[in-house]
Amino acid sequence: MTRWSMIIYLRRCVGCQACTVACQVNNKLPLGIFWNIVTTVGPLGTYPTSRFYHIPRPCFHCANPPCVPCCPAGASSQREDGIVTIDQNKCIGCGACIMSCPYGARIRNKELGIAQKCTFCMDLITQGKEPYCVSTCHQKARIFGDLDNPESEISKLINTENTTQLMPELGTDPHVYYIQP
Ligand code: SF4
Ligand code: SF4
Ligand code: SF4
Repeated sequence: MTRWSMIIYLRRCVGCQACTVACQVNNKLPLGIFWNIVTTVGPLGTYPTSRFYHIPRPCFHCANPPCVPCCPAGASSQREDGIVTIDQNKCIGCGACIMSCPYGARIRNKELGIAQKCTFCMDLITQGKEPYCVSTCHQKARIFGDLDNPESEISKLINTENTTQLMPELGTDPHVYYIQP
């Protein structure tokens, strides 16, 4: 099996937003629609040791995604490789999935009248390429790969680094992991 996942090194991310722009341009998103958000936190501490850090947030492609069962149109689903998708032809734009996602990963595209979100660039990875946000990151802050392959870089990192998930208490089991700053 394959389980696509991402690890993000928070200590490497400089908050440049290049990944956000690459996602928006390459996925041809309208102005104001972002599938990949980078939030800046801080300043933390006191001068001269105060600091900021940045949290990139794509869709987490959760193992237990609340955005899937709530969809009344059968438009929201999860593939065997873990990627959570929206069928644009089935979506009726009701917004139930947008409300149910605890991470704010879904957004309404008002032009199309549907919900949208990060797809882990599933068309690219089918071609053996990496998502745009990964290949664009000059800091190599994002590692993408197959968590079911023990030889993949992401599998080795999961076993050697201290990773965390966002709001694990919700039981959604996000498949984007963070290495602390
Ligand atoms: Fe962070 Fe890399 Fe995105 Fe820049 S491109 S905001 S360094 S993840
Ligand atoms: Fe669904 Fe939100 Fe999880 Fe993405 S992050 S799979 S939209 S619940
Ligand atoms: Fe399903 Fe679309 Fe409604 Fe989301 S907005 S719950 S994908 S029909």
